[in-house]
Amino acid sequence: MVDRPNSPAFRDVAVNFHPYTNARKHEDKGAMVIREGKGIHVYDDTGKEYIEGLAGLWSVAVGFGEPRLVEAARAQMEKLPFYHSFAHKSHEPSIELSERLLAMAPGKMSKVFYTSSGSEANDTAIKLVWYYNNARGRPEKKKIISRIKGYHGITIASGSLTGLPYNHKDFDLPIKNILHTACPHHWRFGWEGESEEEFASRLAGELEQLILTEGPETVAAFIGEPVMGAGGVIVPPRTYWQKIQTVCRKYDVLVIADEVINGFGRTGQLWGSTTYGIEPDMVICSKQLTSSYMPLAALLFSDEIYQAIADNTAKIGTFGHGFTASGHPVATAVALENLKIIEERDLVGNAARMGEHLQAGLRRFADHPLVGEVRGVGMIGCIELVADKTSKQAFDPAGAVGTYCYERCQEHGLIIRNLGDQMAFCPPLIIDETGLNQLLERFGQALDETAQWVG
Ligand code: PLP
Repeated sequence: MVDRPNSPAFRDVAVNFHPYTNARKHEDKGAMVIREGKGIHVYDDTGKEYIEGLAGLWSVAVGFGEPRLVEAARAQMEKLPFYHSFAHKSHEPSIELSERLLAMAPGKMSKVFYTSSGSEANDTAIKLVWYYNNARGRPEKKKIISRIKGYHGITIASGSLTGLPYNHKDFDLPIKNILHTACPHHWRFGWEGESEEEFASRLAGELEQLILTEGPETVAAFIGEPVMGAGGVIVPPRTYWQKIQTVCRKYDVLVIADEVINGFGRTGQLWGSTTYGIEPDMVICSKQLTSSYMPLAALLFSDEIYQAIADNTAKIGTFGHGFTASGHPVATAVALENLKIIEERDLVGNAARMGEHLQAGLRRFADHPLVGEVRGVGMIGCIELVADKTSKQAFDPAGAVGTYCYERCQEHGLIIRNLGDQMAFCPPLIIDETGLNQLLERFGQALDETAQWVG
């Protein structure tokens, strides 16, 4: 129960309705109010320090309180706080950022379209795919395949792509023309005795079967996160993406890489697509693009797509899509400075080097009685808690143990995220060995206390 009537935690309950929160539990518990951030740490309204082990929402790559980003925002605010990109208008920050993004992008990307969130960017991707196939005279080629446990956002269309039950239940989702195929999690879904590669081949076969059953002339695109994030940090088998891509190419199905979490170094390489050999036709990035200092997402697409849709805009007279804040000058200026910092400080290299330390540290928990699987790549990882290590039996009800562990972590000054009973780690890319050791130590204490609680 919130016990300080005039505290921000109490006032929050009176006025805010929170995303991804049990509203009744919130009335009881109150909010955790974060007041400040510095480096890998944040501080609540009582002054307590936490390591931000999820980089906010998988996003604050350069850490909190980076003065160069503050200055980039201030300078752009002063010069041109807003201008739009409708009707042939543009401004320098968005031009420079697009040049930079296209130079670093995976695959051969030709143009950039900006939105303020990953969800809007994925909605835009769906609309572009539909527009593209209408432009090419194939109005029946509209279905988009995503994956069970994939996460692509929460708007009506992007929420339909997302393959998690609570994003659909009672929202009347998914909408039509969105299909879901299997999740590439070998440990959980592999058959007895099936190798990772056999599992990857089976999933590619299932995808092919789905396309054939639906009719290849009706299937337009496949979308996936190279490494799944919010679905539980699912690291695919090594050759999974190559096999999936081969099937997509065979049936003229576009490959869309949702790099919203993976992009800008998270997997220890610049893109998740680089790590897994994906050559996408479209790329969506956000989060680490600005280190979440400003809301911004970018949708990059190939010249082939551009040429088809450009002709169609000429036929119709305009491209009837765009947001007031598309390519917002302050957001794009901050993104540019953020990308410069990532490059100058070699934060992708740091993610690779420190990532090894993180992965080794997480693997040390593999023998713990509550731990079913330890997985991860680069600077993203997960520990899945189970009721029975040998049979991999999950806890029932799902999430209660994970939530307890998450709360113990916070007691010990560590913020991570429990996705049900999957404990996700995704620290800022600036973290060093000392920070990682502290993070792992605090998690270890929380895990032991959780084991005592479970009994
Ligand atoms: N795609 C992925 C892979 C994400 O992880 C997220 C958010 O976590 C989104 C899309 C949606 O982004 P937003 O929350 O900015 O709408």
